[in-house]
Amino acid sequence: MRLLVVGGGVTGLAAAHRALEVARERAQPLELTLVEARERLGGTIATERADGFLLESGPDSFLSEKPWALALCRRLGVEDRLTRTDDRHRRTFVWRRGRLHPLPEGFQLLAPTRLRPFLTSTLFSWPGKLRMALDLVLPRGVADDESLGAFVRRRLGTEALDRVAQPLVAGIYTADPDDLSLAATMPRFLELERRERSLVLGLWRAARRAPQPGTSGARWSLFVTFQDGMEDLITTLAGRLPAGATVLKQRVNGVERVGERWRASTAEGGRFEADRVIVATESHATARLVRYLDPTLATLLGEIPYASAATVSLGYRRADVPHPLDGFGFVVPRSEGRALLAATFSSVKYPGRAPEGHALLRGFVGGALNAGILDGDDAVLLTRVRAELREALGVVAEPVLARVARWPASMPQYRVGHLARVETIERRVGALPGLFLGGGAYRGVGIADCVRSGETAADGALGAA
Ligand SMILES: Cc1cc2nc3c(=O)[nH]c(=O)nc-3n(C[C@H](O)[C@H](O)[C@H](O)COP(=O)(O)OP(=O)(O)OC[C@H]3O[C@@H](n4cnc5c(N)ncnc54)[C@H](O)[C@@H]3O)c2cc1C
Repeated sequence: MRLLVVGGGVTGLAAAHRALEVARERAQPLELTLVEARERLGGTIATERADGFLLESGPDSFLSEKPWALALCRRLGVEDRLTRTDDRHRRTFVWRRGRLHPLPEGFQLLAPTRLRPFLTSTLFSWPGKLRMALDLVLPRGVADDESLGAFVRRRLGTEALDRVAQPLVAGIYTADPDDLSLAATMPRFLELERRERSLVLGLWRAARRAPQPGTSGARWSLFVTFQDGMEDLITTLAGRLPAGATVLKQRVNGVERVGERWRASTAEGGRFEADRVIVATESHATARLVRYLDPTLATLLGEIPYASAATVSLGYRRADVPHPLDGFGFVVPRSEGRALLAATFSSVKYPGRAPEGHALLRGFVGGALNAGILDGDDAVLLTRVRAELREALGVVAEPVLARVARWPASMPQYRVGHLARVETIERRVGALPGLFLGGGAYRGVGIADCVRSGETAADGALGAA
């Protein structure tokens, strides 16, 4: 069988790798080609080493509680190259009114699970805390899909939304919570309400059932990365593909059906024929590729909005950062009107990110809520981020290293109704035998979701699903 994979991000690579695994298991001959538009593989995953610092331009970790990326690392035999977060400093701050307030211990994304840290928190007012406590008695909601913003406001109140849920969610989806689909982004909370009614009680019960930290012997923290940076996953996957299977710098501009087979042509004049095709590009790119094949499918894909974002990495001498950096970083509520969506204390969160006596900080800017900031050039972004880090952490010194990485139209936004759209997309793709789609635009935006999506596409393509 000839298989063509379009897009060499983690989804496309995971798809190609899985296809080879299945073919090997079944002793099935497979001719594989992976076509990538850029001059490098990895898509948004990119690691750089400079002056003893290890910088992540895009993702800095993946989630271990979603099992697919970790399972892939195990099958690749690279689990020993992973590293966990340094949980001595496991806490996040919220930057509000010029102060960094620790997120109360036991706060699980949207709601508190521990009473004392919540009651003593400086992040919330007393009326805000009382409003959150109303969750204990409020009835269940009725909507099939509502926005994350509406859900948090209904259950926990405006303060919980503005001061915690919105900035935490912006750090993941860069989106306005009033646009985001709860069912597509945080189904766990929807299920929790359906099952337990109260989020606080439900989370509290779940926390009591879960083993205490330190006693479970769990090997991995919630966020996991590679000692040598996330790009290790990309080079490892790429290294498992047969020689000559990867074609770089060819942008596929259309896929068409030719009899029982598929043909993809590229802007550079390339032509690839295959029995099966997996398209693992951003959905706005996928829309272009299928526009003549199924215009309705193209419209559905093209209507999934994407936001742009940038990361600003700054290396400092540790002595030049007055703040104790006793956390993983901070998030910034939209109401603060800052450029930063969030900042990570990268060299505190993970080992080996900065040379001895130095610290690495990383700002995250842009997104659907603050796209305008990206109009400025790199110098403007650096000035804004440095000014805000000066205010938040007291860093006035010049950084010893600075990098800006821009990711235009890279972050899919799951609006209310997203899952219904994805079901229609899947139905239409199902009517095109031999074509499969994968990527972060459909059923999860993170690396673990992308691995699953690519592997599911490969299983489908090889008839192993
Ligand atoms: C700044 C940032 C930080 C993030 N942080 C995290 C994090 O910490 N943890 C996490 O789990 N996730 C994170 N994510 C999300 C994560 O990066 C993505 O989910 C994942 O990398 C997407 O992989 P992908 O292969 O689906 O898409 P991409 O990485 O977008 O790859 C798509 C590939 O397709 C190629 N392509 C597009 N069009 C064509 C064409 N016509 N022909 C050929 N090739 C084409 C592109 O060049 C690209 O290489 C972050 C994302 C960003 C932008």
